[in-house]
Amino acid sequence: MKVYNTLSRSKEEFVPREPGKVGFYMCGPTVYNHIHIGNARTFLSFDVIRRYLEFAGFEVNFVQNITDVDDKIINRANEEGKTAAEIAAFYSRAFIDVMRAIGVKDPSIRPRATEEIPAMIETITGLIEGGHAYEVEGDVYFSVRSYPEYGRLSGRDIEQLQSGARVSVDPRKRDALDFALWKAAKPGEPFWESPWGQGRPGWHIECTAMSERYLGTPFDIHGGGDDLVFPHHENELAQSEACSGHLFVKYWLHGGMLTIDHEKMSKSEGNFLLLKDVLEHVRPQALRLLMLQTHYRSPFDYSVERLHEATSALERIESALRNLSWAIESYAGVAVAPNDLGDKSVSWTGDLLARIEATREQFKVHMDDDFNTAGAVSAIFELVSAGNSSVKDGIYGETHRLAVIEAHDTILELLVVLGVNLLADTGEGEPAYPDGLVDLAAELTGFVGDDPAEAVDVLLGLRIEARAAKNWSLADSIRDGLTELGLVIEDTASGTRIVRK
Ligand SMILES: [Zn+2]
Repeated sequence: MKVYNTLSRSKEEFVPREPGKVGFYMCGPTVYNHIHIGNARTFLSFDVIRRYLEFAGFEVNFVQNITDVDDKIINRANEEGKTAAEIAAFYSRAFIDVMRAIGVKDPSIRPRATEEIPAMIETITGLIEGGHAYEVEGDVYFSVRSYPEYGRLSGRDIEQLQSGARVSVDPRKRDALDFALWKAAKPGEPFWESPWGQGRPGWHIECTAMSERYLGTPFDIHGGGDDLVFPHHENELAQSEACSGHLFVKYWLHGGMLTIDHEKMSKSEGNFLLLKDVLEHVRPQALRLLMLQTHYRSPFDYSVERLHEATSALERIESALRNLSWAIESYAGVAVAPNDLGDKSVSWTGDLLARIEATREQFKVHMDDDFNTAGAVSAIFELVSAGNSSVKDGIYGETHRLAVIEAHDTILELLVVLGVNLLADTGEGEPAYPDGLVDLAAELTGFVGDDPAEAVDVLLGLRIEARAAKNWSLADSIRDGLTELGLVIEDTASGTRIVRK
């Protein structure tokens, strides 16, 4: 398995520290607002990476923090007349809910910054003792000059950074590049007691302290969007390595940014999209399928058109799966027209089995190549097409039936590895039959049940009777009633069924 490591700027063979185990840290949200679609893309990408590592047999310890103390949270609290803790609790809950809604697995451990203050104080104390940090009037700064390799992750030159530091420099800092590890509390702000007085941690130290605490260093993978490479991850790395004297992280993985209709997302341009608002118009699985079609490191362009295309693609998969299930269930152990099929029946089973094997192989090859989800998805689509054509004349023997079952299950299984769980969606998403079906059966046949599947049987039975009696007006009312519900009767080699148009 190869992964692209930001630290070496190259694809490297993935070899975790401990065989079979992966320590994975992912920067979580700062909970002062609902997350936007760009954040969602990053979290989805890393969810897929984690799921694939698990599928590949690794035991993944996935740690994702929640930053629940920060200037932005305090500002929002002041704006809304609430406490910072209330704001953080509300948006943490909203974040967890929306992640679950798009099928992102819960992390193994979800530390919250405010519950990890002792670990941060300990790390800061170590940095001061090692000469890498200093205190000024209750603030503590990291001394960038004390870590000669600063800039290594982002490929920046410390001298250039220095001359480019345009911000009005706090005269208490020894160097313009030094950044805060601990901030003294201003009146009215939340604070914790520390050796440097009342205050709160800076953002960068949180991730260093929490990842060290739960994973130990070095750990295997550190993930985040590529907007975090500098300064956040550069600073995390400097703090950790300055303090421990050894490597912090083996593989740094960064996800690409998101644009909307080829424009950078920005509040002022009015093209700023919150994930929760997008989910009001689209099935989560379609959003996932869309995002999978772009490599996680490449920029991703979101548009409503692309989302519609992904929705249609998802429906093609679902329709193929229904076709396969239908064929499997309808097969009664009697070969379908074996004489008409002749040698074709034998080669079709062989072709389908070969396609299943090829799809599994290609899926693995693509995913092992730095998680090329776009390639993996197209391999699945090839199996979808092969499965569909294999049952277009029904099932013609037990060997064929078993191959079709395997094709069906392989499609579902590989999609779940990518986090597209169709079973989860059909449970509460689009029902197999619309509500009006039972009413239609009641109107035409006096049906009294409430099970749509029974209503289908009753309607199909009535249609057979109507045709046998040459009662064309009754046959037409059945057809028209179904059309109004968006349904159609389909005669196939395996029998007759009612499906969505
Ligand atoms: Zn972080």
